[in-house]
Amino acid sequence: STVYLNGAFMAMEQARISPMDRGFLFADGVYEVIPAFNGVLFRFEEHLRRLERSLSALYLINPHDRAGWRRRCQELIQRNGGGNLSLYLQITRGAADKRDHAFPDPPVPPTVFMSTAPLTVPAADSPDQITGAAAITLDDIRWARCDIKSISLLPNILLRQQAIASGAREAILIHDGFVTEGAASNVFIVKDGEIATPPASHAILGGITRDLIIELCREQDLPLREREISEAELGDADEVWISSSTRDVVPVVSLDGRPVGDGRPGETWKILARHYIAFKRRLCGV
Ligand code: PLP
Repeated sequence: STVYLNGAFMAMEQARISPMDRGFLFADGVYEVIPAFNGVLFRFEEHLRRLERSLSALYLINPHDRAGWRRRCQELIQRNGGGNLSLYLQITRGAADKRDHAFPDPPVPPTVFMSTAPLTVPAADSPDQITGAAAITLDDIRWARCDIKSISLLPNILLRQQAIASGAREAILIHDGFVTEGAASNVFIVKDGEIATPPASHAILGGITRDLIIELCREQDLPLREREISEAELGDADEVWISSSTRDVVPVVSLDGRPVGDGRPGETWKILARHYIAFKRRLCGV
């Protein structure tokens, strides 16, 4: 595949970075994952806005304006054949000549890398074909700024792996008795017809998919509240969903080995999934 590195497009095999890169040494950088459906970048402005927030939290200067990002991202999608792709974008503080925690002074140019991977459109046409996912609950062992989309993902990696090892697809994280989010997703529950999701804060990554689900619920008059969700409420929910850019919104049908509701995708999820699919079709034609 074709990748983008520091201003140039090249074959993946040609891409080289320095072992002194602060991304490699310290995970000193941020990233985005932006889906493209039918070659059309989905919620692109929203992803760029989050990238701007992540960069400024790290005191990194944004190397491009929005038009510049759009041009580069679109060219990368095109060069990889369009269709359904997920675009990975990473920016690090660059390669200094010595290893020092403090920022390089004077600053060095950031390292900008982008690549794509095939993306299977999860919900496709028919929510009825979706069987749902298993999840387990785990203690949220991450830091206090989960709102930054940092490439420092060791806790997320260990948590996700623990889920996989126990036969589940995702770990749902609990902090002080309350749900925060998934290891790489946001969490929603449904109880007695009301949808709930933890409020945006430093404890979670504000998902672009989460925001879209909230928007669609408001538009469609589906009752949704952003509020704290206790571990007990999660265990007692009629439905549990997880959301992310590469998986849309997926019903969790088993939690810690017990069925959620009747163990099948819930009715509220089906309604939301249809609206989600319709929205995507309007924007991208998929
Ligand atoms: N929370 C975490 C920790 C994530 O890593 C992700 C995405 O990978 C999300 C939430 C979902 O965010 P988005 O919907 O923007 O993909």
